[in-house]
Amino acid sequence: MDEVIADILDALRAGELDQAALDALLRKHSARLGVGEHRIAKKQVIPDYLALKARGDGRWEKLGVTDELEERFFSLMKMKPRRTASGVATITVITKPWPCQGNCIFCPSDVRMPKSYLHDEPACQRAERSFFDPYLQVASRLQALQAMGHATDKVELIVLGGTWTDYPEAYRLWFVASLFDALNDSPDGRKVESQRRSAQYRAAGMANDAAALEQEAAPYQHMIDLHASSYNEELARFYAAEGAPWQKAALWQRASWDEVERRQRENETSAHRVVGLVVETRPDAISAASLRELRALGCTKVQMGIQSLYAEIRDINGRPIAQAKIEEAFALCRLFGFKSHVHQMVNLKGATPQSDRDDYRMLVSDVRFQPDEVKLYPCALIGSAQLEADYQVGSWVPYDEEELVQLLVDDVMTTPPYARISRMIRDFSSGDIVAGNKKANLRQMVEGRIAEDDLRPVEIRYREVGTSPVEVDALTLNDFTYATSVSEEHFLQWVTPEGRIAGFLRLSLPASEAIERYAGAIPVGPGEAMIREVHVYGFAAPLQREGTSAQHHGLGRKLIERACEIAKANGYEAVNVISAVGTREYYRKLGFADNGLYQQKSLS
Ligand code: SF4
Repeated sequence: MDEVIADILDALRAGELDQAALDALLRKHSARLGVGEHRIAKKQVIPDYLALKARGDGRWEKLGVTDELEERFFSLMKMKPRRTASGVATITVITKPWPCQGNCIFCPSDVRMPKSYLHDEPACQRAERSFFDPYLQVASRLQALQAMGHATDKVELIVLGGTWTDYPEAYRLWFVASLFDALNDSPDGRKVESQRRSAQYRAAGMANDAAALEQEAAPYQHMIDLHASSYNEELARFYAAEGAPWQKAALWQRASWDEVERRQRENETSAHRVVGLVVETRPDAISAASLRELRALGCTKVQMGIQSLYAEIRDINGRPIAQAKIEEAFALCRLFGFKSHVHQMVNLKGATPQSDRDDYRMLVSDVRFQPDEVKLYPCALIGSAQLEADYQVGSWVPYDEEELVQLLVDDVMTTPPYARISRMIRDFSSGDIVAGNKKANLRQMVEGRIAEDDLRPVEIRYREVGTSPVEVDALTLNDFTYATSVSEEHFLQWVTPEGRIAGFLRLSLPASEAIERYAGAIPVGPGEAMIREVHVYGFAAPLQREGTSAQHHGLGRKLIERACEIAKANGYEAVNVISAVGTREYYRKLGFADNGLYQQKSLS
């Protein structure tokens, strides 16, 4: 393989090596090695390249790889460029199966998973193979991302699964401490600790291969599928019986706050820094106390299911969360500085395409809500959901494709420039869907219609520069201001002459009445502005290396300077930033001082 790598590097030095030329080169070497149809694949090249580099011997030195050449090499070899096009490598981890206090009729029940997840969703498969252990999930994902050539020094961790606050505190602390541990350990240390953890689960009697789990879970799942028993009841039988492997595991799945804080300090200078930590919860589980804890864990974004802002639709669908609770969840998240990522569903029982349009418009434009990101997807019937009975008698009917696509086009066009629609489908496989949208490319269909109709959405994902090169000198800094029920928000964005977005900052100027209303409960005081997010696009190039993407031209620093000017001009005395653990060093260099749950810069 050394020869293949040398050839690729030579071709890159000689000029542009595109994908077609790379394929031809790999075919040529496959023929030379006589490997026929098992020809050398791109995904084999990167691990060998990294191994060669790690050896650092004479053979590596002879290749004379400069930083610039290596950047081009990785850029060529990346197999899924979108995965780190937002500048950060994302790792999704799933918490262990856990009872849910909700009873939503559309929600699937897979006894092998936390409620609402299915075992064949990609992240869920990885979680199951890892015994739902956070360390093992991160370790295997890191390895996979590196093997695909992605830089992993800036990592966003997304914790999905059961409602976070429903798990015991000791489990929550252990889960987060383990996430940091996996990122802090050296590659060798990670290997040893992964083996130790896997052995521990096996010794407790736990399986992690799909076939064995299917067999074990079958009798419990059968009862759920017959609607003869609930998810919570079967979960209790499957996991909580005395002496069950999960009960044994619970004995070591605990950590203290000291352990969490120690790992956080280590991560500040680790090779894989946490630049974002997202946790999933429900609006009715959000309180000032729960947000304080999330912040202390290093959380920067809260993901919560809203599904509908119409109380009657929520009631019909078995989700009786009070409207006031939802409003308060948005207000508190904003005052704490968290970014909000919400789930909104269309085609719930009782909804119509028009009520869904109105519902979504309220979500994205009413001052009480206005999330930063939305997962907007249609309700689809999974066999284990109670909705099946409604489908059988015709009281829930899926929208036809045309209705659905047009509805989503309209929703995209309603979305303001500061919001991002992150997804349009759940990761369910079409085999699991009894009725409803089965098209995995629904988003492309919506984008196709938008292009056909020559529409110009302003929603973030539609405009982000992604992997395209950026002409930094041509960027302009635009300030989009909007009011919420508790603040004035400034969405500062770097835009290209074509209106694409190369980076942005969310600045929140809290209203003094809102701060007073929650005085003592929230960790921010009057006169303190809040930077809720700074995001600059470009490939996730390593922290210390100069590159050509938007990330390397001080765009983030300039956004922060501008935010400070705006806050000062509006009479604020200090700016807080809801920094992630791995970005603390960056903010210290910009003059922010550690200050409780945030980092703060005085404006006087
Ligand atoms: S949608 Fe959420 S709250 Fe409702 S049953 Fe499913 S997991 Fe529970």
